[in-house]
This record gives sequence, C-alpha cells and structure tokens, in this order.
Amino acid sequence: MNHSDQEFVDTAQLTQLLELQQFILGSIATGERFEHIIEQLCGLIGSMVPDASVSVMLLKQETEVLTLQAGPAFLTELLPYFETILPAGSDAVYVTDVASDSRLNGLREAVLRLSIGACWSIPIVSDEQEILGTLAVAFAGPQIPTPFHKRILETAAYAAAITIKNWRREQRLLQWSTVFDDANEGMYITGSDGSILDVNKAFTRITGYNLEEVHGNNPKMMSSERHDETFYKTMWGSINTTGKWQGEIWNRRKDGEIYPQWLSVSRIGNRQGQAYNYVAVFSDISLLKESEHKLFYLAHHDALTGLPNRLLMNARLEHVLGQAKRNPTCIAVMFIDLDRFKYVNDTYGHAQGDRVLINVAKRLRSLLREQDTIARIGGDEFVVILEGLAQSEDAANLAQKFIDALEQPFQLADNEVFVTPSIGITIFPEDGRTSEILLKNADIAMYRAKEQGRHGFSFYKSSMTDKVRERLSMETYLRRALERNQFELFYQPQVLAGSPEIVGVEALLRWHHPELGLVMPGDFIPILEETHLIESVGEWELSEACRKVRQWDEQGLPRVRLAVNLSARQMLPSSLGRNLGMILRVTGFDPRRLELEITEHSLMNEGERIVGLLEALGDLGVSLAIDDFGSGYSSLARLKRLPVQCLKIDSKLVRDVSVDASDQMICQAIVALGHSLGMRVIAEGVERSEQSRFLKSIKCDEFQGYLYGRPVPAFALEKMLREQANKSIPRASS
Ligand code: C2E
Ligand code: MG
Ligand code: MG
Repeated sequence: MNHSDQEFVDTAQLTQLLELQQFILGSIATGERFEHIIEQLCGLIGSMVPDASVSVMLLKQETEVLTLQAGPAFLTELLPYFETILPAGSDAVYVTDVASDSRLNGLREAVLRLSIGACWSIPIVSDEQEILGTLAVAFAGPQIPTPFHKRILETAAYAAAITIKNWRREQRLLQWSTVFDDANEGMYITGSDGSILDVNKAFTRITGYNLEEVHGNNPKMMSSERHDETFYKTMWGSINTTGKWQGEIWNRRKDGEIYPQWLSVSRIGNRQGQAYNYVAVFSDISLLKESEHKLFYLAHHDALTGLPNRLLMNARLEHVLGQAKRNPTCIAVMFIDLDRFKYVNDTYGHAQGDRVLINVAKRLRSLLREQDTIARIGGDEFVVILEGLAQSEDAANLAQKFIDALEQPFQLADNEVFVTPSIGITIFPEDGRTSEILLKNADIAMYRAKEQGRHGFSFYKSSMTDKVRERLSMETYLRRALERNQFELFYQPQVLAGSPEIVGVEALLRWHHPELGLVMPGDFIPILEETHLIESVGEWELSEACRKVRQWDEQGLPRVRLAVNLSARQMLPSSLGRNLGMILRVTGFDPRRLELEITEHSLMNEGERIVGLLEALGDLGVSLAIDDFGSGYSSLARLKRLPVQCLKIDSKLVRDVSVDASDQMICQAIVALGHSLGMRVIAEGVERSEQSRFLKSIKCDEFQGYLYGRPVPAFALEKMLREQANKSIPRASS
C-alpha cells in the first residue's frame, strides 16, 4: 500500500476497502466457487467505481494468452489491446483518455469504435511476482482515477491474486487426487522414516492390502526375499543421491504370491537432500512378463514338436561358439534329415506324418543330455548341438544311437512306419569356426551320408568318418573277441643286468582280428577301456597268465616272476580284489611272484580313487610296478604308501640314454630314488648294448627289450626258458 495514496482515502472509503478484501477472503474460506468469487469481485468494483465496466482476465499458464474470466462480453474485444499495452509489465496502466493517449497510437480507431473513452489495467500479480492476469476497467468517456479508485483496484487485484492462486492450488490438488485415486498404477506415499502414509485404490487392487493394513508399516512387509542386500543398497543409493530409482522388482502380495513390478520411487524433500516423503509408483508386470514369455516361446519353438526352431537354434549355436572361443572345447553340430519322409506324408497323409515327426523328436531328445540342443528347422530336418565333447568320436556314437533309436517302427493306426535318418556331423573348431560354416558343412556331410546309401552318418571330413567307422567296427568285433578266443597273451622276458638270465616275463595282449590280422594293444586297449570290456578281458588275462606260468613251473622250468598290465579303468573296487583273490586260489599262483603294472600316468590321474584298492591288492601279497616311470610327476609320498616294489624306466628315456646327458641324469636319479625306497629298477625298451652298458653302470637292476627278446607267444617263451634250464644257469632269484 502506497503511503501517499493513503492520505486521499477517508475512513468510510477505508472501511469499504476492508469490506471488499474481507468479502473476498471470506468467500475463499467458505469454499465459494472460483468463477463466482471473481464475478462478485467485478460486481463490487463496479458498485464502488461508478460507470465502470469491470473485467478480470486470466493469463493462461500454458499459452500465456489472456482470456476473459468475468465481465461484459464486449470487453473480450479489448483483449488484444490490453496485451499490447500490458506487455508482461507489473505496473498499472491508466489510459485516461483514449482519444489523446499516445500509447494507443495505431490502436485508437479500433478502441474508439468500441465506444471506450478510458481504460485502466491493473496487473494481478502473485507473491512470487508471477503475472496471473489483469483487472481491466473501461469507461464510455475519459476518466481519471482518484486515489480511492486506485486503492480499490489494487485491493481487488490483490484479492484476485489470492483467489486465483487458491483456485490453481485446488485445481492441482483435485487433479492430483484424481490421478492418485484413478491411476492404474499402484501408488503409496511414505514418511521420511519409510512408514506408509497413504495408498491408492490400485495399490489395494494389486497388493491385496488396504490402507489400514499397511498404514505405518514399512514397504519391506511386501518384500519377496528374492533380492539380495546389494539390490536394495543400490536402490537406496540411487534414491539418496539422485532423488529417484526406477526398475524391476519382485514383491509379494497379501496372498503370498510373488510377482514382478515396475517401480519408480521418488524422494520429496528440500534442496539439502533432506527427505520429507517418498512416493512410489508401480505397475504389476506379471501379465506382461507372461505374455512376453509366451511370445518368446512361440517365436522360438516349433509348434508341432515343441523343439526349438531355427531362430533359437541359431542363437544357441552362437552362444555356445562364443563360449567355446573363450574356453576352448569340442562342439559337434549335426544335421539330421529323415530319409524319404515325403513318402510317409504321401502315403498316410500329413496328420499321420506329423505324429511320426512328434515321436521322432521325442526319441531323439531322450538320448540327449540336458545341456544339448535339438531343434527342428524344417519339415523333416533337425539340428543337434553337442557341447563339451571329450572327442569328436563321441558325436559318432550319438549319431549311431539316433540311428538305432529310429530302428523301431512307429505305430500309426493300422500301420507300422519305418523312418531312417541321414546324419551329417561337423566339428568345431576343425571344420569351421562360425555357425554359418558349421551348419553349411553339416549339411554337406548329411548329403554325403545320403550318397553313401542313406540310413547312416558322415563327418564333414571323410577321414574322420573312416576313422570312426573303423573304430565302430572294431568295437563290434571286440565285443565278440573274448568269446571267440581271439585274444592271445605274448610274453616278453625280463633279464638281470649283465646276465642273460630270464627272471621275469611281462604278459602283453594281442588280438587276432578276423580281417586285420594281429592287432597291437595300442590300437584296441583304449576301446576296451571305453566300452568297459577291459574288465572282463583283464580278468581273462590275469587268469590266463597265471595258469600259463604255473604250467611252466609244473614242467620244471625256471620259476619266473609274472608282470601283468592293469589299466586304471579296470580297477573297480567292487570286482578286482575279489576276482584276483579267486584267480590266485584257483591257479594256485604264489601272489609274491605276481607284479601288477600300472602306468605312472594313471597313478597320477586316478591316484586318490585307486589308492585304497592298490593297498588292498598289497594285502593279497601281490606287488606293484610303476610302468613308464619318469615322464610324469609322481608324488613320492604316495609311492611310499603303496606296495610298490618296482619302477620301470620309461622306454622314451632309455632310447637315447647312451648319448643324451639329461636322459642319463634322469635315469641315474630314478635308479637312486628306487633304491633308496627299497625298490627294484628295471629299464624298458633296451635295444642296443650301449644302452645296457650305461644302465648297468648306474646299477639299474633288470632289463627288458628287443636286445633280450621281443614279446613272443607262450610256446616261444617256454622254449627260451627250456634253453635256459638246459644251460642250467645258476638261479639268482625266485
Ligand atoms: P608297456 O606295458 O610299457 O609294454 C611295453 C611295450 O613296449 C610293449 O608294447 C612292448 O612290445 C614294447 N617293447 C618292449 N621292448 C621294446 C624295445 O626294445 N623296443 C621297442 N620299441 N618297444 C619295446 P605293446 O605290447 O605294444 O604294448 C603297449 C602297451 O599296451 C603296454 O605298454 C601296456 O601299457 C599296454 N598293454 C599291453 N598289454 C596289456 C594288457 O594286457 N593289459 C593292459 N591293461 N595293458 C596292456
Ligand atoms: Mg607294462
Ligand atoms: Mg612301459
């Protein structure tokens, strides 16, 4: 209020002004409608300023355009002029005479045409100096405002500002409460301590809790316990530093169901980061997730068989290859095509064909491990991805299983249908490093299988196919070899250093293959091991060798020690000890003359598993020899613990021992080590006298090798023993 103006206002006028002010404030307080208050305000001004046409114009916040809120309609036409003469200013403008006021130059004609002689405009300004609108007063003739007029208009503008502000706040509150109540999103507000103050309807719909049940509680009461502490730490870290957090979270409904939410939490507080409230808004996204999941499933699976489709197969293959590049492993990709499947469809109809396909898929799937993928990528085409193969041959084994599994006919209503597959196999990384190349090569390999008469498999590399076929046929033959008496034991003499006397023999296995002739152990022992045939073959060997040596004893031949090789796969705690005990009893063989050879390699790899068993063998009285010693890293502690009586120096060390200084040193060390542990040391693969000379010089106890005798059939060794007996060389040991 301007002090100088005050002097011109008398007590009666002051009372009128106060009444005006109080009327407005009272109306606001009693909740009078905004439009009504403004209209009444205009009326009151009109009654206090004679002949005035009063209007209130509001500045629309969004558009910054003035609109007439109350007052005679003709004033609307004045609006454009008010805007030009009231350019965002906060001072009152009094045009006392339109006809002469220079500010109306250019506008005068138009204003006069409205029969307006004077116009005053008083800005309505908020406490924050925001212009909310204007109070406009027009007269038919020129009019100079008195101080009282000015005071009326100032008071009225002030009251209008309060009214407008109040109205706007109400509007916003109304909007907000509508938003809060009607929103589809669940909302809750908490105090600064996190306790819930208010929730909306959607909150109750989604969570199952009403306000009474959650009021005063921490939202933690709805936690699913699916997230760990770090999750909540990160969330609160973000709220405290940036003022908000948004993300997916799992919570629990009142009925216990756990469901996913999309949640936004905002902090409401002062500039110093002090929180007054937290507002949380969330949507239940369980349906979304479910349909997303369904969509994903539909997009990635074959509707008929439920197997992954080409899209998912490609994605998996990419993934598997990506992993393999970081962590090298062997991967096989198989392309399976059913032979002449068109014939099944044409003969029995597509519905029956579909049934066959479903069952083919089931049979193939049942042969795979969880981590393997089988996808249907076309009518009768499947792709299989095998990860982490030990060797590429394993893929062939599986392909053979697929072929066998489809051997059984499929039963249709009245018919039996036979389906055979042609399978192409590619191997990562040998046959390709990218999914495109692997798939292309698998396809090529599949066509090769078709060319070779269908109903079979083919590797992309034909050498691989040959190798695997050969192996598979070996396996088939091996399964019969024992019952068909195709195995034979050869014996190789072991002699004392510096003397030709045979003190022991090592039994070595040979296989008379019906087509290939004599096969050496390196070519078939691994297959025996993998197929577990080694258990029965090993048992046969032991009893055969014991029987043979006993026979020689009975013929009065020199008594020799018997060495028999044992493979780690053979050492099953359940059977070996029992079988060996029985063999010894049945043949009457002295266990002290039996030496079981296990390689240093298998002792290292399977050590812990077989230690107990080896100790049990020791209890039977038999001794152990460590075969091919010197190339691995045996644990001395373990060596000491086992009933080991002999170290056999690896033939690789013996080969150059007469010339290679480091081999010489190693051999020397082995002899010293063996002797210090009270063991005998025997050198294998002695072919030349230089080798034997050096080995004798370092006190190696015994020799075995072509220099003294190759592995020979039993009758040939028997002959050697007989000759030795005839020469009646004095016996050194028994
Ligand atoms: P090993 O036990 O180290 O047998 C010695 C191998 O060296 C034998 O090969 C033998 O013929 C060969 N050899 C002996 N003296 C010489 C020589 O002066 N020069 C050369 N170059 N080689 C010599 P073979 O019979 O082919 O056996 C190979 C391996 O197969 C054996 O190595 C053994 O680990 C395994 N094996 C042989 N028979 C059996 C068996 O009955 N059971 C088990 N589990 N494994 C066997
Ligand atoms: Mg051996
Ligand atoms: Mg050896």
